[in-house]
Amino acid sequence: MSTLITNIGELVTNDLQQADDAGSRDGRDAAALSGQGPGPFAAIKDAALVMEAGLVAWTGQASRAPAADEIVDARGRAVLPGFVDSHAHLVFAGERGAEFAARMAGAPYEAGGIASTVAATRRATDPELRAGLRRLVAEMLRQGITTFECKSGYGLTVADEARCLSLAAEVTPEVTYLGAHIVPPEFDGDAAGYVDLVCGQMLDACAPFARWVDVFCESGAFGADEATAVLDAGRAVGLIPRVHANQLGPGPGVRVAVAAGAASADHCTYLTSADVEALASSATVATLLPGVEFSTRQPYPDARRLLGAGVTVALATDCNPGSCFTSSMSLCIALAVVAMRLTTREAVWAATAGGARALRRTDVGHLGAGARADLVLLDAPSHAYLAYRPGVPLVAAVWRAGELAAGSAE
Ligand SMILES: [Zn+2]
Repeated sequence: MSTLITNIGELVTNDLQQADDAGSRDGRDAAALSGQGPGPFAAIKDAALVMEAGLVAWTGQASRAPAADEIVDARGRAVLPGFVDSHAHLVFAGERGAEFAARMAGAPYEAGGIASTVAATRRATDPELRAGLRRLVAEMLRQGITTFECKSGYGLTVADEARCLSLAAEVTPEVTYLGAHIVPPEFDGDAAGYVDLVCGQMLDACAPFARWVDVFCESGAFGADEATAVLDAGRAVGLIPRVHANQLGPGPGVRVAVAAGAASADHCTYLTSADVEALASSATVATLLPGVEFSTRQPYPDARRLLGAGVTVALATDCNPGSCFTSSMSLCIALAVVAMRLTTREAVWAATAGGARALRRTDVGHLGAGARADLVLLDAPSHAYLAYRPGVPLVAAVWRAGELAAGSAE
């Protein structure tokens, strides 16, 4: 059973082959040239796409499209790769609307706010946590996120971290052990004791569910030595590092991430020149989370400086109940363009191919032949509308692995 989507006004492919044809160079780097997976930003006007058996089988000019069993008419609208959200905290209980309102009324954001979510999460039953998680996953899917990462970090006991990761593993293969989110209240004054637990018994219980290990390396959370110990322990059992780095102020997070061979350093709001150089000369992606700066009224990361230095940049939601409770990649794209001065092409690339790089995935983030058929149909003629029409629900339909998963192409 093959499906042809035709009459596509703009088809964003991020496909290396077509980028070569079009002469586009956005987002190009050595990794894309040497391997499979996402290439630089690339798009085809008046396009068509054929999918079969869950994969992209063909893309090109609509006038040259092959026959298929089923035809979908996009009526001049844009089709993009499904968004890849490489940073989200989705397993938690409770909500922090009052804290948000207080912050908007002038109270500062502090890492300690996490503790209230930890308390609620520990009290919650598995079915309660699962229901909240699935509600957010469905919300993301309706908005075009077809691949997402999900962290623990609100349990902070051996049993609670393990059950949060077990629940995350029900909905995504991109599961991240974040036992080192904050030092929980019962270890107050004994951060070393908690790091020992995170690197020992808790890791043993959590590693079977996880692909990644993460640490919140920040003043008020974990320092360089503690973060390095957590990442080393994770690596020793086969987990790949990623790091919450340099969000609230300058610090060692990016250096720790690069030294550990992390797939991604996330936030990157306060960077020194040495940090930027370290990222540029490594395979570590800089994942920017502008919904956080928007929701906490903090300064945005200097994305142009990172791109200018040759750093690979991803965009992610950081969906979490404290600092940024959005599940909208469209909002993140609009913020990246309007507030961080990415071009619309750079922002869409970062939210698709960039996210795939941050998760070391070659099957998503692009629509080259052989990619997973994860597609977003916009009620708009081009990708630029995601920033041009901020806050408007432009995602009309979402296909995941070739199946219509949300919305309608009508
Ligand atoms: Zn986060």
